Amino acid sequence: MKILLLDIETAPNLAYVWGLFNQNISISQISESGYTLCYAAKWLHSKTMMFDSIKKSGSKKMIKGLHKLLEEADAVIHYNGRKFDIPVINREFVMHKLQPPSPYKQIDMLSVCRGNFRFTSNKLDYVSQVLGLGAKVKHAGHELWVNCMAGDAAAWKMMEKYNKGDVIILERLYHELLPWIKNHPNYNLYHEDLCCPNCESENLQARGYATTAACVYKRYQCKDCGKWFRGNDRIKQPKIKGKDC
Ligand SMILES: [Zn+2]
Repeated sequence: MKILLLDIETAPNLAYVWGLFNQNISISQISESGYTLCYAAKWLHSKTMMFDSIKKSGSKKMIKGLHKLLEEADAVIHYNGRKFDIPVINREFVMHKLQPPSPYKQIDMLSVCRGNFRFTSNKLDYVSQVLGLGAKVKHAGHELWVNCMAGDAAAWKMMEKYNKGDVIILERLYHELLPWIKNHPNYNLYHEDLCCPNCESENLQARGYATTAACVYKRYQCKDCGKWFRGNDRIKQPKIKGKDC
């Protein structure tokens, strides 16, 4: 199974505004719509970081490269990508007259954070620091985006570092939270013997039973990542001793 870690950076919309506070901006005030500046991506378990930008390749070539990556991916790991990165990328695809890439599953680490924990903030920078996984690359803030849009070489160097840094943090977070991910694309579909659905390990321990409304299954815990899951075979005798059995 090929899993892609992905993060994009986008340029803001540019608009003519009449004030600063509580503005309603009409479409006619927009001088330039936002667009994808760059992306950083990495195949899970590979050491190679990929990066491309409109500065390096121009928009069309960059977006085509991104399309190729998604075409190859069985699943994509991102942070808030369901609401942000993927719809932005899809808009780029349709604007560039590209067809949808072959379907892929999405592992949105923001949903994993929201669904399992109550962190004070769900920002990637906060969560990764709280978990001791490192911080995002520091940068000049909004100015960095403005300078990149103006084509400044030093700003682009910083943007590349920042974008790649996000993917590194994202990968660490993915490994840290792996046993908490529900509905992870199931490695058993790609694996002959029973394995952990989340990390493909065969280092499993049978621990108790998992029940549905009608059936009882053997329950396992992965000894590598810690994921709990149930085996495929139904067990006929529905005698359950409880959590310690
Ligand atoms: Zn596992």
